[in-house]
Amino acid sequence: MGGKLPFVMPYVVTEACIGVKDKSCMNVCPVDCIYEGDEMVYIHPDECIDCGLCEPECPVTAIFVDSDVPTNWKDYIEKNKEMSEKLRG
Ligand code: SF4
Ligand code: SF4
Repeated sequence: MGGKLPFVMPYVVTEACIGVKDKSCMNVCPVDCIYEGDEMVYIHPDECIDCGLCEPECPVTAIFVDSDVPTNWKDYIEKNKEMSEKLRG
């Protein structure tokens, strides 16, 4: 933790959030870097401080640190970046 390192790995929200979106993660994020979209929420990778607080809050295990995102959900790494950028305006 501490300062941002060049290789810092943000957390990523994956497909399991779709249809649940209960915002438990948003309620605990200390830097408000989780943005609500129509279907699911997205984490802004540049704002995430890698604290890990959101991960255990998720009732459906949708949140992973980016290096641990399951292979079939790797697209969500890019999707979180794109959508959070759009949603934060
Ligand atoms: S890891 Fe921490 S900073 Fe990043 S989205 Fe989760 S709660 Fe927010
Ligand atoms: S806690 Fe999980 S299901 Fe709820 S909004 Fe966050 S990522 Fe989606």
